[in-house]
Amino acid sequence: MSKRSFCYFDNNATTPVAAEVLEAMLPCYTEHWGNPSSAYRFGREAARRLEDARGRMAAFINAEPRELVFTSCGTESNNTAIQSALSTHPARHHVVTTAVEHSATLKYCRQLQQRGIEVTFLPVEEDGTLDLHRLERSIRPDTAVVSVMWANNETGVLFPVEEIAAICRSKSVSCHTDAVQVAGKLPMDVKGLGVDMLSLSAHKFHAPKGVGLLYVRSHSRFQPHIIGGQQERGRRGGTENVAGIVGMARAAELASAHLTEENTRVRALRDRMERGIFKAIPGAARNGAREPRLPNTANISFEGVDAEGMLMALDQAGICASGGSACTSGSVEPSHVLVAMGLRPERASGCVRFSLGRANTEAEVDCLLEVLPGIVKRLRESRPG
Ligand SMILES: *Cc1c(COP(=O)(O)O)cnc(C)c1O
Repeated sequence: MSKRSFCYFDNNATTPVAAEVLEAMLPCYTEHWGNPSSAYRFGREAARRLEDARGRMAAFINAEPRELVFTSCGTESNNTAIQSALSTHPARHHVVTTAVEHSATLKYCRQLQQRGIEVTFLPVEEDGTLDLHRLERSIRPDTAVVSVMWANNETGVLFPVEEIAAICRSKSVSCHTDAVQVAGKLPMDVKGLGVDMLSLSAHKFHAPKGVGLLYVRSHSRFQPHIIGGQQERGRRGGTENVAGIVGMARAAELASAHLTEENTRVRALRDRMERGIFKAIPGAARNGAREPRLPNTANISFEGVDAEGMLMALDQAGICASGGSACTSGSVEPSHVLVAMGLRPERASGCVRFSLGRANTEAEVDCLLEVLPGIVKRLRESRPG
């Protein structure tokens, strides 16, 4: 891979495709490009590669291969999970989720409200954590599904999904988790976790964009969202993205191999970056609980600075960071996650998310720590009034 001329601290938005992943994918385009649903040998070779990848993805999350449905992205997986729970429980018209979900869940639920579905958006505490008693009380006899993210993409704060799944089980309600930010950062074991459905997205762990996964526990009811052919055992129409899926499976193996590094070297880099920022810049503060949190994510507010100016100045210094989620950047609205955490609008508009990855080095963090205090000082001085 070519050497980068910039520092990339936005790994929660997307990650580069690993060289090994691209290498695993190429034969799916050049030689084995058959349709996995075709009956002749050439098609069956593609099907063999697809099923091999399914086995590896199943091993990655400790699921059975038949429990996996390949999708086009994390967004499709989340939409499908919630829609399926509603349509397989036709007498239930209520969904429980949180106010800090990714837009792939949040906006889908808002759209469901317009179709007459009742949705409870659970609030969070100031540190971004959930009150589980409140969650338990929000579950009603007509609740079809509880959909709660495992790790927040903006703050890195982790929700106790194992406990939430246990609450759902005790109330016989289906439990879905958006685990997109967890892949490659924490070990995943769906059996131990006890959820009914779980979403992943390949491009967040060094595989290509446009591939996702939905785990659906055996014997749970399921209704497809994308209707068409009998692919994915009738659970998702559309010819599978074989190359993308093969790439995702290779990326999953690499993610397992890098798990320790994420939790030692990358975590230490993130902590060093945070300490350096707090030491050098007055009026800088972390948003969200320090623990439990993803090892790579830091969300920091800089008093008296707006994120837009900050991100532009960082960009000019060759540093990629984000104002929260990639999907809201470019808009001036403060992040819904930080607003849900009760941040004053002045503080919420001065927040920057730095999300590290396995390619980041100490030298890059040093570079950030060198330029950041000057940028903040300059922006504060140039503020009107
Ligand atoms: C990126 C992301 C998604 C969306 O995944 P896509 O594959 O980009 O659709 C969903 N949830 C979370 C938490 C994410 O970070």
